[in-house]
Amino acid sequence: MALVHCPKCDKRISDKAEVCQFCNHVLVADPEKLDSERRINRIKKASNLMTQSFVALILFIGGLAYSAWYSDDGTSTDKIVAQVVTAISFVWYLITRIRIMLFKRDKK
Ligand SMILES: [Zn+2]
Repeated sequence: MALVHCPKCDKRISDKAEVCQFCNHVLVADPEKLDSERRINRIKKASNLMTQSFVALILFIGGLAYSAWYSDDGTSTDKIVAQVVTAISFVWYLITRIRIMLFKRDKK
């Protein structure tokens, strides 16, 4: 068993230690654990983006359908709200799709 210097507090510790006994600095990052954490984060991010694009699409279709069905009264507040929702959700959907595209491209 050799002694090495802790990179953080510079005290002498065993080279087998995973955590410095003096300052709790993590010396050996488990690559498998890091990898699985990264994978879990990617899955979470991907499902979050998919949920967002789904919600945006539903809002878009809903807003579009609402303004189409109530087209007889063009000045009603409801219709204006529906059109604003449609426009915002359309932009939101596009942004989310672009983010998904960039996310997929950035496969490590
Ligand atoms: Zn230390």
